[in-house]
Amino acid sequence: MSRRALLTVLLLCSVSLIAQNRPAPTKTEVAPGIVMFATPSYGDVGLDGNSIAVVTRDGVLVFDTNGTPAAAAAVLAEIRTLTNQPVRWIVNSHWHWDHWYGTETYQRAFPDVRIVAHEKTRALMMGPALEFNRPGLETMLPAYLKSLEQRAATNAALKATLDEDRFFLDQKTHVRHTFPDVTFNDRLGIDLGERHVEVLNYGRAVTPGDAFVYLPKEKVLLIGDLIVNPVTFALSGYPTEWLHALERIDALDVDTIVTGHGPPLHDKQLLRATIDVFRVLLRDGKAAKEKGLTADQAKDAIFPGLHDLMVSITGDVPAVNGAFKQQLVDWYLHRVYDELDGPLSDAIAAIPPQ
Ligand SMILES: [Zn+2]
Repeated sequence: MSRRALLTVLLLCSVSLIAQNRPAPTKTEVAPGIVMFATPSYGDVGLDGNSIAVVTRDGVLVFDTNGTPAAAAAVLAEIRTLTNQPVRWIVNSHWHWDHWYGTETYQRAFPDVRIVAHEKTRALMMGPALEFNRPGLETMLPAYLKSLEQRAATNAALKATLDEDRFFLDQKTHVRHTFPDVTFNDRLGIDLGERHVEVLNYGRAVTPGDAFVYLPKEKVLLIGDLIVNPVTFALSGYPTEWLHALERIDALDVDTIVTGHGPPLHDKQLLRATIDVFRVLLRDGKAAKEKGLTADQAKDAIFPGLHDLMVSITGDVPAVNGAFKQQLVDWYLHRVYDELDGPLSDAIAAIPPQ
């Protein structure tokens, strides 16, 4: 066996060894040859974004690469059961770790893979995003693990969670951050095999440089975290531009929307309900600020009026209602207030205090 062949075998072994550390992801074929992978959470400390493989006769495009190399390896093991074609393109939707920390797995397996992100996302990944994650990795998560270790010492039921949490911290600490080598501003067309893929940005939305993928022939939209099923995560977003981006997306001819988290959607109901929530929060948030209310007072004043819209999104499940109130209403309203105070920068905003 040549040295190169031996190296390839060793590499594949190491990928499948890593994959064995994670349960197989669930897979959903959202259109012929377009498969969404969802991975289980890491104990009680982390969640991956969805990862989507677009298979063609000349290679595979992967949209988002999970939050750890091990999760990406588990997804890659599934992709290998679908096709012998190499992964030629990766698109990372935005800078949040749960959508790109697994990229190294693909680059090791396919050294020629091209990695695409918006130009602002690449800039954030290369510095500010890593700084944003640092306190969690170096201080908060280790402290949490210590407290969990103490509780697990007298409660065996916590042992499995503790192992998962340790694994997560180990993965994130040792990840080799793998940055995009192809950037775009508002549009990048990729022709791969029989498919045409549009990588698009419609302005600042959940982050300064969101990338989403539109397959016009297949009428499939891979939307990243521009909306999340069921509740959109509105931390550090750009309220007015985000609404405009969703309005433009609503005009696209689409049968299936794959969100950054949660099951795929086969209509625009959640997209439109989220748009309606944004409109109410922008309008009523502005009025509340003019009346002199703080953002938190505005939330309490506006929230009851959102009840019917909330139920249409959450199905009135209490825990999901709670997420709706905090992650969508509270965080979006704080950014509405920030925006009214002056133009928002591309810097990552702090999490509002609870
Ligand atoms: Zn996410």
